[in-house]
Amino acid sequence: MASPQHETRQPVPTWDEVDALRRQVVELQRVSSLGVLAGGICHELNNALTPVLNYAKLGLRNPDPDFRRRAFEKILDGAERAAAITGGVLGLARPRADRRGAADLVRLVEEVLLLVGKDLSKHRVRVDIRSEGRPHAKVNPAQIQQVLLNLIINARQAMPEGGTVKVRIGTDTAGRLAEVSIADTGLGIAPAVLRRIFEPFFTTKIGPDETGLGGTGLGLSVCREIVESHKGRLRAESHPGEGTTFTLRLPACAAPIEKKGAA
Ligand code: ADP
Repeated sequence: MASPQHETRQPVPTWDEVDALRRQVVELQRVSSLGVLAGGICHELNNALTPVLNYAKLGLRNPDPDFRRRAFEKILDGAERAAAITGGVLGLARPRADRRGAADLVRLVEEVLLLVGKDLSKHRVRVDIRSEGRPHAKVNPAQIQQVLLNLIINARQAMPEGGTVKVRIGTDTAGRLAEVSIADTGLGIAPAVLRRIFEPFFTTKIGPDETGLGGTGLGLSVCREIVESHKGRLRAESHPGEGTTFTLRLPACAAPIEKKGAA
């Protein structure tokens, strides 16, 4: 019989240690989502910079003022697109304090689609986005974008033969909840699996896939944690063989009043 002094006991972590680990999991999960997109993002950035370079060269060679004005406009378009892409990546990658403010959900979705667009088209996935009005919610934008990014990457991975991601943005009938739903036309989820998808480390993905990543099973548990920390709800419903819809509901708030004359 083993005497008590020979038992090796694991030290019990403190609440602060558990909390620090949870925050690290959220951070790591976000970096891993960005990793899936890295190649596509570089490609998009390159596409945005190509007209900048070409029109700058043409403008230098051509002294015609009209031609140069048009060249400047093209350069500005390309540079603005490149800035939007890098801004999106930085917004997601940079760890920031939990600062919340009224955010335009349509804009958050559009920024995420800008990052994920190349990855979707490469996998023959079409995006159909519709919104009713411009619902706002008081959120940490980077965290909600992390949730949206995850749901969209999962949707793409559920459609190995391609398909459609439908994104709908609106409010419930009472106008109290802002809603974003992300529906795919993928494989769907069997009821026994559906019951477990929000469990940490639950995954059905046996990797690595072509991006070198397998499933971690952390995506949806982190998403739900983020959404619930915003007093929202994240639900899934699925029809095996037809597709899956994730619905994110957040308490709605008023749009901020725009300051006149602000830059
Ligand atoms: P991971 O993507 O690393 O497996 P998640 O927590 O994001 O981890 O997802 C857990 C599981 O939920 C996935 O392995 C998959 O079985 C299922 N799942 C998530 N989203 C979808 C979807 N849109 N369609 C089908 N299955 C899904």
